[in-house]
Amino acid sequence: MVTLDMNGPYELSTQKIDEVVTKTSPGNYALGYVQDNTFYICYVGRSDTDINERLKQWVGKKPNRYTHFKFSYATSPKAAFEKECRNYHDFGGAVKLDNEYHPQRPDGTDWKCPICDIYD
Ligand SMILES: [Zn+2]
Repeated sequence: MVTLDMNGPYELSTQKIDEVVTKTSPGNYALGYVQDNTFYICYVGRSDTDINERLKQWVGKKPNRYTHFKFSYATSPKAAFEKECRNYHDFGGAVKLDNEYHPQRPDGTDWKCPICDIYD
């Protein structure tokens, strides 16, 4: 069974983000909603620098769809990129997720997706 391997879900609000995302760190997140105690994933993403700040940019963007988030810290931007790739593929890619595109590697890196050959 595939999992996000993240903490949450938590309500997507500025207050809640500050309460639970207390480190300034690269990290990963998923956005979605909760129904019958199940978290439904709509979007996966990452921040290379500050997961707290990135999550706050989503507050209120799709208030009916992105009501909750899950997150995890990453040890490096590269670890965050590789986890985002796994999350993206594990949960259906652009077909099932709101993500329109494959996760982007930062400019100037030669990092590869651990799952597919898009960057080969
Ligand atoms: Zn890939």
